[in-house]
Amino acid sequence: MKNRMTVGFSAISENEAFARNTVAAFCVALDPTVDQINDIKTAVSEAVTNCIVHAYSEQSEDNTVTIDTTIDGDTVHIVVSDSGIGIADIDSAMQPFFTTKPEQERSGMGFTVMESFMDTLTVTHNIPSGTVVSMTKTIRGADWKKKKL
Ligand code: ATP
Ligand code: MG
Repeated sequence: MKNRMTVGFSAISENEAFARNTVAAFCVALDPTVDQINDIKTAVSEAVTNCIVHAYSEQSEDNTVTIDTTIDGDTVHIVVSDSGIGIADIDSAMQPFFTTKPEQERSGMGFTVMESFMDTLTVTHNIPSGTVVSMTKTIRGADWKKKKL
């Protein structure tokens, strides 16, 4: 059996903590360690921050970020998407230290952090526009399927 949660919110920095804490609260069902939950929070924070900082040219409450989280057995799948400008060259964007906003003192390490804190990371273009970041993490020994909802 799977369990799914979708949340959408304005792409503004005030919502970054809400996003990471909401996904973390949902993942508590997997009985993760503190380190594992912190890994998930950090990865979500990086993905959501990218939507806020890079996806949209102007700040507006109409700019949205959507997070779709699915728990499937002992694995959590997290999909963070926006409807912004998209990433022209995904391969370059995923290289460590690559940033298009050096003037904002961005270090270009967001995707590298997501990759190292999660088990898998896939970045794709959305249709017709935007970016989709899909991440998974398996919580070894998670007993979620046997737990009562
Ligand atoms: P840091 O995350 O270290 O503050 P950064 O955000 O520039 O710096 P990454 O998170 O690795 O670094 O992202 C690399 C680049 O990919 C960004 O500079 C930006 O050009 C592009 N990018 C990432 N996410 C998005 C997005 N959601 N929409 C548009 N472009 C994006
Ligand atoms: Mg980033």
